[in-house]
Amino acid sequence: MPVLLTERERDIFLKAKEFSVRYLAPEAAQWEADRKLPDKVRKLLQDHGFFGVGAPVEVGGKGCNYLETALTYEGLAYGDGGVAFFIQLHNNIAFEIATFYDTTDKVKALTPDMIKGNKLTCFALTEKSGGSDPTMTEASAELKEDGYHVFGHKDWASDSLDADYFTVIVKDGTAKGMVMLLLEKGMPGFTIAEDRQRIGGNAMSCGTLHFDDVVVPRENLLSVDGFKEALKAIDVARVFVPAIAVGVAQRALDITADHLARRVTFGQPILKNQAVQWQLAELTALVQAARWTVYHTASLKDSGERVSTQAAVNKLFVPNAVLKVTLECAQLFGAEGCAWNSEITRCVNLARIFKVVDGTIEVQKIVIARGIEKDAFARIAQ
Ligand SMILES: Cc1cc2nc3c(=O)[nH]c(=O)nc-3n(C[C@H](O)[C@H](O)[C@H](O)COP(=O)(O)OP(=O)(O)OC[C@H]3O[C@@H](n4cnc5c(N)ncnc54)[C@H](O)[C@@H]3O)c2cc1C
Repeated sequence: MPVLLTERERDIFLKAKEFSVRYLAPEAAQWEADRKLPDKVRKLLQDHGFFGVGAPVEVGGKGCNYLETALTYEGLAYGDGGVAFFIQLHNNIAFEIATFYDTTDKVKALTPDMIKGNKLTCFALTEKSGGSDPTMTEASAELKEDGYHVFGHKDWASDSLDADYFTVIVKDGTAKGMVMLLLEKGMPGFTIAEDRQRIGGNAMSCGTLHFDDVVVPRENLLSVDGFKEALKAIDVARVFVPAIAVGVAQRALDITADHLARRVTFGQPILKNQAVQWQLAELTALVQAARWTVYHTASLKDSGERVSTQAAVNKLFVPNAVLKVTLECAQLFGAEGCAWNSEITRCVNLARIFKVVDGTIEVQKIVIARGIEKDAFARIAQ
């Protein structure tokens, strides 16, 4: 298990961090205010090789392993956690479509453009009836001669307004319960509505999908075991979302220290106060613990081990730590920490979102607790 980063890993992180500081950080406030990520950002991300980072070279990806991919997202998030979340989500879906499922030639032909970022993707599991418990899914598909007839809706689908392809999980009445289908923008009966305004990350759209007898050809089937595959996909996100959170926390710490070094009260920079220094020291230790939790989880995934429980530990500990860090940093910014769309406020708001997306903090506790319970009963039965 690596406990030191290699030179290559450090370079990957630094390349992403330098990119994000140069190209993302200066305009992030504008994109948030406009609620739109300009096309030039996607082009920049493409030109600098950030699409396809987690996908194998054989399918057109950059061939980075999980740790390298996590380092890339941490670096990107240092400049703008919202953009890092956008590309992480897309890359995961594209990688999963290209490698996880036994897909048809038609789907295989679509994947190179997804991996390169020419076409964008969206993952739709959550519904109004339930996010934490996907068994509450109401959207359904009935298999007929001409394909799956899909009815219902999905809610909170990130990138919904900009995506070309949609991984949609619906009930199909079979023993496995749910299928995973690839829907394409513009299919008759498929509409995308409402970009929900959120507390942060609004440069990326997030909306509702409606299916009114959408006929999805059989060749767009991704998996007959949609429920299991959805959980696998979410495990991947539970490795990477915390990596993004760490990048955001480090940014919050750095801009806070810089602010306090410049701002003078009672005749000296605020940073000269030992109380403040000690507070930042505590937060630094917390960020470091969070960072190594992410690296450990990603390395475990690279080793081929099952990571569901560790991914849940990652998704529990890191966003909690990062919210504490960003909130305390915001307090140290005084009024600026209360300003709409200031950099520190954006850090706090993203940290709040990271506690919910891809399974809430509470859901991670449920996953971890199941493991504890299983192990304890196994021990006492011996
Ligand atoms: C910005 C953003 C982007 C998103 N993007 C996507 C996306 O791209 N695709 C997608 O499918 N979904 C997406 N989601 C949805 C997200 O995955 C869900 O919001 C999340 O899983 C929680 O579901 P819920 O909102 O329905 O909360 P609920 O399931 O209604 O839960 C409400 C609260 O109760 C708690 N809770 C629930 N059950 C228990 C229990 N048994 N014990 C203790 N506490 C419990 C939860 O932790 C939560 O705090 C996104 C959400 C946000 C905010």
